[in-house]
Amino acid sequence: MKVVVIGAQWGDEGKGKMVDYLADDAKVVVRYAGGANAGHTIVIGDQQYALHLVPSGILYPDKTVYLGMGMVIDPEALFNELQMLKDRGINWEGRVFISDRAHLVLPRYRELDKKRDAERKRPIGTTGRGIGTTYSMKSERDGIRLADLDWKEKIEDLEDADKEFLNKYSERLISMRVNLTAEMYKHRNDNILLEGAQGALLDLDTGTYPYVSSGMSCSAGAAIGAGIGPRSLDKILGVFKAYSTRVGNGPMPTEFCEETQSELYHYVRETGREYGVTTGRPRRCGYLDLVALRYACQTNSIDELVLTHLDIYDTLDEIEACVAYEIDGQKVVDFPTSIEALNKAKPVLQKFSGWKQSLKNCRLYDAMPKSARDYVDFIEKYCETPVGIISVGYERNDTFLRTKVW
Ligand code: GDP
Repeated sequence: MKVVVIGAQWGDEGKGKMVDYLADDAKVVVRYAGGANAGHTIVIGDQQYALHLVPSGILYPDKTVYLGMGMVIDPEALFNELQMLKDRGINWEGRVFISDRAHLVLPRYRELDKKRDAERKRPIGTTGRGIGTTYSMKSERDGIRLADLDWKEKIEDLEDADKEFLNKYSERLISMRVNLTAEMYKHRNDNILLEGAQGALLDLDTGTYPYVSSGMSCSAGAAIGAGIGPRSLDKILGVFKAYSTRVGNGPMPTEFCEETQSELYHYVRETGREYGVTTGRPRRCGYLDLVALRYACQTNSIDELVLTHLDIYDTLDEIEACVAYEIDGQKVVDFPTSIEALNKAKPVLQKFSGWKQSLKNCRLYDAMPKSARDYVDFIEKYCETPVGIISVGYERNDTFLRTKVW
């Protein structure tokens, strides 16, 4: 069975934690898109791991992980991450493979990323890891794939600094390089988890363009990134937080107002530890945006939603969520494409009672307080999609399933 885990908002929804949780029953984990700009945090007991490129299943000693063909890989960042894992006692050798169709990030692309964003009239707020430039080079047909590492003429044409850089890593990359389609065929009867990066609203095509990432963070990207066809995907899980966050620039209609709602803003940011794993940047925080979430369900065929960070609302008297936008005096329920419209959108909020108790030890839906269930039931009805998994804390086991995943 093949299960896809995508972010259903603007990233940082807790995909890493969910992939780590679900990987227990998988044989293989494939990360299908993005690069070292993504950051997943996994907490197991008193240990915390920050992963950027390596799929989250690596923390189990018996899982095989693949870096997919939709990824762009900075070899320096990859080998630093693998060294960090080794230093912390995670033996990864023989378990980490890379698609020969994945593209490589060269050091000068990082500089180009920053330079291009600084020159933009409306900067996107790139992480400056060379990701955008590598994807541009790919679509201009000037990129370097792992498969090209032994294509002598192609390597000869590179600038000296690029050649020198690749030389350092070439042998190791080649030893991990695979034909991913053939590998997927080999594992066709196994449980495979496909891990996305960023979130549906940051997808190059379906996101809030141009304030998006340059990779495919939609569920369709899972098929491409793993080298299989879309009919091979069996289930799509969309992870979302009980509220919204966004890093970088771009519209966020439900963002709390820093001036008039500074208490709520800081409460959510601090309790939810809303600081970027890769950059340390504070994340923008706001109400749950159901207009955007329903759009993500529709554009990604989400079979089940995965609700995380519900515990962040444990102490609030009242909770609000956005059920429509008001744009130029009109009520809008379909997520707009125009950035201008999104910038003008004012959230129409619905109130819910708080539950005023800790959910951390809840492991059954019926054991949750009624007001927490009311919030979840409303989300399911609004999005016409069931909430199949609920996460009530940052640790691996602060999670419960309402339906079987595999
Ligand atoms: P990802 O990029 O989608 O994997 O998200 P991150 O891992 O960057 O961010 C999620 C952060 O929230 C991590 O620090 C997780 O440990 C934490 N987290 C995940 N689920 C929950 C939850 O239900 N409650 C709380 N309090 N923290 C959570």
